[in-house]
Amino acid sequence: MVKNRLDRHYLQNKEKYDKAALDVLESGWYITGPFLEKFEKEYANYIGSQYAVGLANGLDALWIGMKALEIGEGDEVIVQSNTYIATVMGITINRATPIFVEPDRCFNMDPDKIEAAITPRTKAILVTHLYGQATNMEPIQALCKKHKLMLIEDCAQSHGAKHQGQITGKFGILGCFSFYPTKNLGAFGDGGAITTNDENLARKIRIYRNYGSEKKYYNQVVGINSRLDEIQAALLSVKLNYLDQLNAERSSIANYYLEHIRNPLVQLPSLQKNSTHVWHQFVINTERRKELIEFLDRKEIQTIIHYPVPPHLSEAYEYLGYTEGSFPIAEHYANTVLSLPLFDGMTLDEAKEVVQAVNEFKP
Ligand SMILES: *Cc1c(COP(=O)(O)O)cnc(C)c1O
Repeated sequence: MVKNRLDRHYLQNKEKYDKAALDVLESGWYITGPFLEKFEKEYANYIGSQYAVGLANGLDALWIGMKALEIGEGDEVIVQSNTYIATVMGITINRATPIFVEPDRCFNMDPDKIEAAITPRTKAILVTHLYGQATNMEPIQALCKKHKLMLIEDCAQSHGAKHQGQITGKFGILGCFSFYPTKNLGAFGDGGAITTNDENLARKIRIYRNYGSEKKYYNQVVGINSRLDEIQAALLSVKLNYLDQLNAERSSIANYYLEHIRNPLVQLPSLQKNSTHVWHQFVINTERRKELIEFLDRKEIQTIIHYPVPPHLSEAYEYLGYTEGSFPIAEHYANTVLSLPLFDGMTLDEAKEVVQAVNEFKP
């Protein structure tokens, strides 16, 4: 039996997490206090950016970030066609229009296909480092420079991943992060953050997340409530100390899969040159997906499809007017991708069990 577990890492380091949570409970201060300030400093430091602003979740990081950049109605944002739908919602919540670009063999935005999607209305390119592998950034940075576009990163799946030695979340004007429990830096509830080197933007986002006020009860703009609470911040400070180690452990399981899965019906993930992969998900392609899921399910091995419906075909985006065939690569991935078990605290024995089962699979 191999099932994704969220509590393994916690149970292995219970005392530290319990103490952090208790410290907050005993502090008598639960929202926007010293633990948030401490985590924001530590996270900015980890990314190597000047500022990190904690938010309630990753979707807020995306849409509040784009709102702060004044992306709105009539503007176009280039986004990859196979991303998680939240990336696209970050654009459309601001009434801007997503322009989809197909992914490459590594599941990330294909730099060769971007230029054709640029119009006079294009404001930004929003790159998702999907499944944890850093995107090939140089050509995208060059396009942003050439066409004077803003570069935004959705790093919800890529905490710690690097391209050419540079960490994701620092390439663009904004890095948008989620700390949803399953992410590589996962909280024990919802959480998110924006990283930036732009002081003005950081301040704008900080004001916006707290009813538009910098000074309590004095409101400069109509804001919202999107705060990262003290307990989550304190727990994230603990987890951040383990992030590189947890990513390395994910890597060793992923490498074991890469070296030992041998089945002509299963296509292993492709690696991007000069990028690191933090293996948020280990995603294979197979034309026999339904049968493989059932086969593994009978052996109590849990698999998940990330994601069965590409954003342009989801009911929510019917109004954009796309149909089947609009983005064939994203659609092909939606029909063939499958994530094998990979989670914090997973053992080599569990990985062996998965490998053996996948290699045995014959429809
Ligand atoms: C998880 C995720 C989000 C949204 O994060 P939440 O914290 O769940 O709001 C956005 N983009 C991507 C790529 C994600 O994986």
